[in-house]
Amino acid sequence: MKKIAVFCIPAHGHTNPMLPVVKELVRRGDEVRFYSFEEFRGKIEQTGAAYVSCDRYLPELSAKEEGKLKKVSAAEMTIQDIKITLSMNDFLHDEFIAFRPDVVYTDSVCFWGKLNALKYDVPMVVSTSTFAFNQMSSRYIKNSPKEMAGLIFGLPKMTRELNKLKPYGYKFKGLLSLIQSDNDTDSVVYTSRKFQPCSESFSGHYTFVGPSLFSDKIPDKNHERPLVYISLGTVINDRPDFYSKCIKAFKDENIDVIISCGKAIDIGALGELPDHVSVYEHVDQLDLLSKANVFITHCGMNSVSESLYMATPMVLYPQTNEQGAVARRVREIGAGKELKDDSVTGIRDAVKDILNTVSYGNAAKECSDDFRSCSGAAGAADFIENAPHTVDD
Ligand code: UDP
Repeated sequence: MKKIAVFCIPAHGHTNPMLPVVKELVRRGDEVRFYSFEEFRGKIEQTGAAYVSCDRYLPELSAKEEGKLKKVSAAEMTIQDIKITLSMNDFLHDEFIAFRPDVVYTDSVCFWGKLNALKYDVPMVVSTSTFAFNQMSSRYIKNSPKEMAGLIFGLPKMTRELNKLKPYGYKFKGLLSLIQSDNDTDSVVYTSRKFQPCSESFSGHYTFVGPSLFSDKIPDKNHERPLVYISLGTVINDRPDFYSKCIKAFKDENIDVIISCGKAIDIGALGELPDHVSVYEHVDQLDLLSKANVFITHCGMNSVSESLYMATPMVLYPQTNEQGAVARRVREIGAGKELKDDSVTGIRDAVKDILNTVSYGNAAKECSDDFRSCSGAAGAADFIENAPHTVDD
């Protein structure tokens, strides 16, 4: 039996894949403390792990900072990550001394988890909620000139913030070592070796366990009318314009449409809905994907993994460069096509193309079989319990 401290940033997409693994660790009798935030308490407690609240260490954000975070500015996220690490310093010192974890299982961009594992010399396993990105696979990410400028101009501020960590005994080589995957860190990646780009360039410190999700459903695509499911995820989903175009695109089509639009939207403002179109704040996405014939997605890693697990081909509508990398990989395996024209006609044509071209569904089914043959939450739990790993070069 091990004592395991789990850390994650306040984001569903990062927290979700850790939950089945945590549940499995608890089931095996490990003592697990999950350091997280109120919004995630319910689902963490359902795993049986002890939830430890960290809300009081989240900084109050100015409107400008909040705006930048909403746009997923890498520089702003890094700065906030460092600020939270500093505000949690004394609290986590006491926790590490009192709990004495045998292993830290931490999200890859959760600096306070990674830096404290290194500071207190506790074996660490990093949870990678996207693809693992090293020098090879990060070629899949195309930074726009605006994003590059944001990073370059944000660099002095990020370095200034980073230097504030030094007096507290945190060990790190530099900014890159904190954010990029390296070949010496034990890492769990929630996809298959086959789907991970450039998987041969990762060392034995990586385990590719396949999508980590709660579902025993198997895909069932046979219904009277095709089902189209639409979601832009839980972060950048404030897009009433896009949902309205989708509603228009399908209003006269003989299909069923379900849209998950998130909390930021006033569903009433989308106007009168045809009988075959439903809009919800939140849905049971896995259940819907098991039945959906097409998924219009923003290409978050979880959404795409869940879609492929449920053999659902996709219309790819990435909103960030990381999502662009995931979309590219889906295109490569032939399980989706990009929504290049997001007009009413463009949306309708893309969905019809997926529905009428059998190869998209076949490619998604092939990937589903591959994902289902991976080691899953049990494989990740073995890897965490047995950390640190020694790897022959
Ligand atoms: N999700 C859900 N119901 C919804 C919308 C999203 O359960 O109505 C879940 C979805 O299943 C996935 C996560 O929220 O696990 C979204 O993660 P993803 O990485 O796709 O995108 P993000 O929200 O981080 O942009």
